[in-house]
Amino acid sequence: NRLKKYFPIKAGLLNRTVGQVKAVDDVSIAIRPGETFGLVGESGSGKSTAGRTAIRLTEKTGGEVKFKGVDLHTLGAEELRKLRPKMQLIFQDPYSSLNPRVRIGDAIGEALLDHGLAPKDEVRDRVLDVLASCGLSAYHIDRFPHEFSGGQRQRIGIARALVLNPELIIADEPVSALDVSIQAQIINLFRKLQETRGLTYLFISHDLSVVEHLCSHIGVMYLGSLVETGSRDALFREPLHPYTKALLSAVPIPIPKLKRERIVLSGDIPNPANPPSGCKFHTRCPFAVARCKEEVPAFRNVGGDRFVACHLV
Ligand code: SF4
Ligand code: MG
Repeated sequence: NRLKKYFPIKAGLLNRTVGQVKAVDDVSIAIRPGETFGLVGESGSGKSTAGRTAIRLTEKTGGEVKFKGVDLHTLGAEELRKLRPKMQLIFQDPYSSLNPRVRIGDAIGEALLDHGLAPKDEVRDRVLDVLASCGLSAYHIDRFPHEFSGGQRQRIGIARALVLNPELIIADEPVSALDVSIQAQIINLFRKLQETRGLTYLFISHDLSVVEHLCSHIGVMYLGSLVETGSRDALFREPLHPYTKALLSAVPIPIPKLKRERIVLSGDIPNPANPPSGCKFHTRCPFAVARCKEEVPAFRNVGGDRFVACHLV
């Protein structure tokens, strides 16, 4: 609730703080158990920082995060360590976090031992189990990371998170580095694991067509702020915020009759250290009016669980 994460901008010989980047500014979302919330936005919108701050991999600047009713940012180190296995992060490129000289069975088993979650003589069986549920097998357990394809590496990344029996998984662009056909396989794996294990996902992606197939709820971020949240169906049927409309208009739809108006955004995402005044989207918004430059639009409830930040909605 109202999560904030600001980073100082340092400059000069004395490394003085000359400003701050509001990477995450007042972000409020609720994710119900067993559901998938998709957090969408261009790179630099603060999605990853929001995800990492949510599970306290970095400290917050303000706001509050509750995990099953527990305020994560007030826990002591030991209490947090105990909860850690329950909240796991999966990265875009699991290869970068795998030691090239460690066999993947050992890499996955290590996580179990580190957290004291299994006696040594059970580790191999637990690893085999989790590999099997991720579509890998005993054949893979003693191999090294470089022997796997991109899709298989992502399966390894998922297995390593899963072996700890998490309840919440934050998946940060987990399929963005993969070919489209492989993306579909990994998304199906996410879905299957959710069904069999009752997992809750925060699924971060720059690509609305990826979250469409997995998420029940979606939040759209722009320059550190949420501009719109709602159920997947409502948001896809009738996007309300101009930025959501623009993102959606780039997603191909199978039924041509439902043609959406095509909105092409001009320019790049502005420098987050120096965001535009008023509505941060006004420099790229095709519908901007004078007021947009002056006044920050409130993030308002517009019925049901729909929230939008736009003066014209
Ligand atoms: Fe566009 Fe104005 Fe709405 Fe911002 S507040 S999205 S600039 S119309
Ligand atoms: Mg990111």
